[in-house]
Amino acid sequence: MHLPLAQSYATLGPQFFRAQPAEPVAAPELLLLNEALARSLTLDPEALKSPEGLALLSGNEAPAQHSPIAQAYAGHQFGGWSPQLGDGRALLLGDITTPEGTFDLQLKGSGRTPFSRNGDGRAWLGPVLREYIVSEAMQALGVPTTRALAAVATGERVQRERAYPGAILTRVAASHIRVGTFQYFAARNDVQALEALTAFALKRHYPEAEGPMGLLSAVVAAQARLIAHWMSLGFIHGVMNTDNMAISGQTIDYGPCAFIDAYHPQTVYSSIDRMGRYAYDQQAQIGGWNLAQLASALLPIMGGEEAIPEATERVNAFRDIYQAEYLARFGAKLGLAEPTAEDLSLVTGLLEIMATEQADFTNTFRALTEGHNPLPDSLAFAAWHGRWQALAPSLDLMKQANPALIPRNHRIEQAIEAAVAGDLAPTTRLIQALATPFDPPEGTEDLRLPPLPEEEVQATFCGT
Ligand code: AMP
Ligand code: MG
Repeated sequence: MHLPLAQSYATLGPQFFRAQPAEPVAAPELLLLNEALARSLTLDPEALKSPEGLALLSGNEAPAQHSPIAQAYAGHQFGGWSPQLGDGRALLLGDITTPEGTFDLQLKGSGRTPFSRNGDGRAWLGPVLREYIVSEAMQALGVPTTRALAAVATGERVQRERAYPGAILTRVAASHIRVGTFQYFAARNDVQALEALTAFALKRHYPEAEGPMGLLSAVVAAQARLIAHWMSLGFIHGVMNTDNMAISGQTIDYGPCAFIDAYHPQTVYSSIDRMGRYAYDQQAQIGGWNLAQLASALLPIMGGEEAIPEATERVNAFRDIYQAEYLARFGAKLGLAEPTAEDLSLVTGLLEIMATEQADFTNTFRALTEGHNPLPDSLAFAAWHGRWQALAPSLDLMKQANPALIPRNHRIEQAIEAAVAGDLAPTTRLIQALATPFDPPEGTEDLRLPPLPEEEVQATFCGT
């Protein structure tokens, strides 16, 4: 099958990537294909389902035009500096230009690359399905995100805590340029590469912005809006390392991510995040920290030390943009079209009650939207409700801000468990239901329920 792909990123120069074919797999089988996304990419779903299509989606055949590439990047992981990370289990097949823009097609789990270090370059079915389900749910929730085009079983086993079925995800992204990509070249004092990368990122993502300072401001604004959006849905990314923050402003690298069930602001899901660095209520703070790293990386092409005051100001703009966006998002959740600074106390007041009552984040807001009392036994809530009602909230606004369905962690785990045992039905059911989260299909009431104590997922592991 012919894919209309270019390999634009490779034109940046040899230091940006390593050409690398995928490692062939034994017995590829198509598990999931996102037909709507395929069509929006001008690809024919039937062709992708054919043996030739499957060969491309499994890495058994490379696009005819050029070699796949592993992209180089660095990053701060949990605050510690790693000068060389790079695509250790992923390959960029190339980019495709459609009427809606240019998009990268990447295989994740396609085998070893020069950046694999001790890793096997593979992914098992669990993280592949998790990323497929959650990224497509995020899309349906209206959050900027990478997408999932396909999931393929490899017919091989991958050794983790035990042997699991191997799988490959085809990811679609506005680009795979990360904060860590800039850090990689800054750490090598490669000023030319920084300039080329800046020009590439501006052209692809922010054509209206100018120069490194313009890029910095554009990324600051995009990330501030993104993280406020996450917060309004109770989403925890889980591993906000600088290599997992996309310059495009899309959510990227779904590892041990999760949506909050019972609300608690310090909730952490990642089993390796013992310090709570990436807890729910730390995300804005960490976003700002990551953007300061981006500013540092851009400094050599912004005029060096003299540019520090302006760059600092541009990073500090994060706070105001985030706070305005947070207020707008949570205001909408409470039906307030133009929330004022005073209304913020209404938001925090409700969140405090929810934390005390361990109320379900999604269901509390949805109950308010549907006119039910989410906390009938709470006197504090009754008082809060009176204050809120006095503002004449708009239910229409609330319906668009408060989903009935989110990809709940325990449901994802159950779907993965079934898929490992050979049953994909829970996964496809989840994906279908989550396509219209604000307007849930009939017969999906069970997907709205928080986990029973025995269903609760305490921690999710990094998506390896
Ligand atoms: P991530 O968990 O996606 O943020 O990955 C962090 C780094 O580890 C990246 O450089 C990945 O390419 C690399 N990595 C993660 N899993 C594997 C694996 N199974 N094999 C090789 N490299 C990996
Ligand atoms: Mg990553």
